[in-house]
Amino acid sequence: MAIQILPELVVAQIAAGEVVERPASVVKELVENALDAGARNIRIEITGGGRQRIRISDDGFGIPPEETELAFYRHATSKLRTTEDLTNINTLGFRGEALASIASVSQLSIVSRHVESQMGTLLNLEGGQVVRRQHVGAPVGTVITVENLFYNTPARLKFLKKENTEKRQIALFVTRYAMAYPHVRFTLEQDGREVFRSSGTGQLADVLVASLGLDSFRNMVEVSGKESARESRPEISVSGYTSVPSLHRSDRNHITLFVNGRWIQDTRLSYAVTQAYHTFLMTGRYPVAVLMLQLPP
Ligand code: ADP
Ligand code: MG
Repeated sequence: MAIQILPELVVAQIAAGEVVERPASVVKELVENALDAGARNIRIEITGGGRQRIRISDDGFGIPPEETELAFYRHATSKLRTTEDLTNINTLGFRGEALASIASVSQLSIVSRHVESQMGTLLNLEGGQVVRRQHVGAPVGTVITVENLFYNTPARLKFLKKENTEKRQIALFVTRYAMAYPHVRFTLEQDGREVFRSSGTGQLADVLVASLGLDSFRNMVEVSGKESARESRPEISVSGYTSVPSLHRSDRNHITLFVNGRWIQDTRLSYAVTQAYHTFLMTGRYPVAVLMLQLPP
């Protein structure tokens, strides 16, 4: 074959493989966008483990009408301008790839109304192509509906995990975000049934009661600590809850860690948490902990 530059859709679909691996990754990207938009209420509605339909509604600041279409181009972002900005990212997103990627492998509709607009904009996209646009009445915020995920990439569709696995993954994701953003009220509905709700009071304790249950929460203690900046180290603070020695689990998966509002997995950090229980826990038992680390970006 002769060398040719690939059509935009093919490029987007290949790239989409990195951003949207599965329904849970679509939920992650859209929820992160809602948080970046300053939403206080985020509603996540899932049908068929997310393969059939994912709808995320937020009451964030919305997208200006003249930018709605632009948001679906690859590398289109309002969060980053220069290379220098990369060292000071305070938003969850910055690459401008999620919407383009998700749209290229689904049938998507968006209704968004910007805080400074009188009207909302509706766009329908199929495989990344805009098929309909119109002005609509809508409250301030954004509603994105993703249907028939991977309908045009059969290989991806084939390798999707079971519906229940996806449901569980999505629920895990949403609970974690609710912990990291306790001032945001999250609602998760799966197949028409509400399965999780956080109150948005701003108290991590309330979210932990909702996610771990009151019995476990009663066996957690609040922790907080701060280390001032030193020559070679920036200021670091840690806060959250960790279990008393009588509450323990058989694996490290109940140690939940966030750095600057992002959920992370790190063996050294979870080892550090476990070490703090040295001699208090039998070998092979691990604490339950939810810890937020804050440090300069
Ligand atoms: P990124 O988040 O990396 O900038 P995305 O592809 O996820 O890239 O989104 C592109 C742009 O669309 C964002 O930079 C933002 O300006 C806008 N956007 C996406 N979702 C929302 C939302 N829920 N509310 C307001 N603006 C949004
Ligand atoms: Mg994003």
